[in-house]
Parts: sequence; structure tokens; C-alpha cells
Amino acid sequence: MKKILILGGGGFIGGALANRLKKEDCWIRIVDIKKKHPYWKTEEFCDEYISGDLRNPNLVSQIFLSPTQKSEKDKENSFDEVYQLAADMGGAEYLFTGENDADIMHASALINLNVVNEAVKKSIKKIFYSSSACVYPEHNQLDPNNPNCKESTVYPAFPDSEYGWEKLFSERIYLAYHRNYNLNIRIARFHNIYGPMGTWSGGKEKVPAAMCRKVIETQDNGEFEVWGNGKQTRSFLYIEDCLNAITKFMDTEDFIGPVNIGSEEMVTINMLAQLAISYSDKKITIKNIQGKDFYNKHGFKCPIGVNGRNSDNALFKEKMEWEPTIPLSEGLKKTYHWILEQQNTYLK
Ligand code: NAD
Repeated sequence: MKKILILGGGGFIGGALANRLKKEDCWIRIVDIKKKHPYWKTEEFCDEYISGDLRNPNLVSQIFLSPTQKSEKDKENSFDEVYQLAADMGGAEYLFTGENDADIMHASALINLNVVNEAVKKSIKKIFYSSSACVYPEHNQLDPNNPNCKESTVYPAFPDSEYGWEKLFSERIYLAYHRNYNLNIRIARFHNIYGPMGTWSGGKEKVPAAMCRKVIETQDNGEFEVWGNGKQTRSFLYIEDCLNAITKFMDTEDFIGPVNIGSEEMVTINMLAQLAISYSDKKITIKNIQGKDFYNKHGFKCPIGVNGRNSDNALFKEKMEWEPTIPLSEGLKKTYHWILEQQNTYLK
């Protein structure tokens, strides 16, 4: 039986991954700063859930020792796979206003420094690191219709957020530990992963969930705000496709990345909003906020990020012979109905 450690397993992607691997009969330990997962029950997704702060090196040292590993010298019984998904994370409202930069960078850099160190000491067999599309330089994402996010274009570096700079720094830590200490790594750059069981309220939700929630909260014949002129482009990958991609990547023998994990189905933000509206039976108008209106009705500055961003999947297709299968219209509909269900339960 494979022994697996999932860091940040109390979150969206980590929780879904744990649930998938649990069904494959793996032994799973989760470590997360949250007391518990908001949606998964312990027995559904892990064998052991440890609530703790991965910024603390003593905790990281303890949790990297597998349940059957007697000491650091016992290399044979170390974890088979480690997934490093823990990060101080959120949507545009959290990551891109500049107000949380210091905390985001400090937390994630500390976590990754602790993790690589213990991964080598405890001789873990393979480690997955979740980087982000936010590493790509702003100058390649100015034209909304032709963004360039090919893996090789990441240097010379100029990410548009400190979150992206930290991800790039940490990619380099993992690569250095691979070169100097033979750490067996896999690095993926996620592009907007979405789906049920993700954060959908509270300020840390990402754009697909935020759009669905806004539609649900808006009255018939009402309007809701969309940040920017609405012509900025993005692509979104459904969680099931993301899990399939992670599994394919972990199973490759001689390719460590970094590689994009995303969808190439690029849409404008207004198209995404229209799609979310189409699942309701309401007539809703989109109000794009820009220029002097660039503060929403709560007086909050609305960050829009880069003008255009899309995954480039050529490298993933070449190495893994696989591409995503779930179109946005299908994935977003499932997400919309899940959020509707959450809202109804919450309001009861
Ligand atoms: P998430 O916020 O749902 O999960 C991250 C988890 O890390 C949370 O449960 C959080 O409690 C935990 N965490 C944060 N600080 C911690 C600490 N100090 N100690 C222990 N746990 C801590 O985010 P997600 O969407 O599941 O993303 C997973 C990873 O993928 C993150 O590293 C994120 O940066 C990366 N990523 C995600 C996306 C996306 O679209 N979801 C895109 C690009 C990159």
C-alpha cells in the first residue's frame, strides 16, 4: 500500500486529491493549518488528519516521518509520494490588491524551505510541488487575445504579483534540491482550477465560484459587478481534469517539469459571467467596473490581473499524451449547482 503525505490537504485541490487517492487504497496523512476540511469527512479522504502550521520546522520534521519509518536512516519505509499544496492562497481580491503580499510570501516561502529540507532528510521517494500560472511575465500577457504562457517563456522573469514571484522562487528551491540532493520532484503550474468543494465565499474564492455566487445572490432583473472591462481573458480547468493530470504527471518516469496543468479553452471574463447567468432563470445585467468606478460598492479596490492568460498544453500533451476533457460549460454548471446547494443549506 502506497504511503502518501498531502500538505494543504484541508484545501480545495488537496482535499479532492486525497479523496481520489483514498479510493485507490493508499494510506494518507493530511497536514493543514485548518482544524478540519470544510466538506470532506475524515474517513472519506484520509487515514490521519493533523492540524498544524507548516511554517513551524519542528512540526514539518515530525510529520515527514512515515507511520512505518523507524528513523531517518530507514529509507525503505519513507513516504512514497508527497504533495505540497499548502500556501496562503485566495482569489484576486486576496492575492492581487498588494495588501497581503508580505504574509503570502513569508508563509509560502517558509513552508517550502521547511518541506524540501525534510523531504531530503527523510528520503521521501517523490514530491509534487504546485506552482502557478502567476509565474509568467506580465509582458507576455498584455494582449488578451494572444497571451503566451509556454513554459520556456517564464524567463526573463516578471510576474505581475508577489504571489507569482514566491512561486517562482520556490520552483527554483525544488529544482536546486533536485540537482544538489537528488530530490525526486515534479513541478506543475496550475491555471485556475475550479469545481465543487472549493472556496465560494468569504473573500478567498476564485473567479468561477465568485461568478456563480454573484448570480445566485442577484435578484431577477438585477445587475452584478464584474471587475475591469470584461474583455480580459482566462482559462479554467475542472478539478477532475486537474486530478487526472496530476496523476499522469506523477506516473511519468523521466520528466520533472515545470509543466502547465490547465485548459486551453480561453474565454473573456464577461463570457464566464454570461455562462454563470445562463444556469439561472434570471435576467441579469453585467456591470463592468473600471476607470473612476474602480472601487466596488463596498469601497474595495478591484484588481483585474493581467489582460490575457491561457494555458499552453503542448508540453503536457507531448510528455503525457493527455489533455483535459471537461468543457467549461459542463464544469461550471456543476459548480453553480453545488454552490446553490451550499447557499440553500446555509440559509436554512
Ligand atoms: P486552498 O487555499 O484551498 O488550499 C491550500 C491549503 O493550504 C489550505 O487548506 C490552507 O489552510 C493550507 N495552508 C495555508 N497555510 C498553511 C500553513 N502555514 N500550514 C499548513 N497549511 C497551510 O488552495 P488550492 O486551490 O487547493 O491550491 C492548492 C495549491 O495550488 C496552492 O499551493 C496554490 O497556490 C496552488 N495553485 C492553485 C490554483 C487554483 O486555481 N486553485 C492555481 C495556481 C496554483
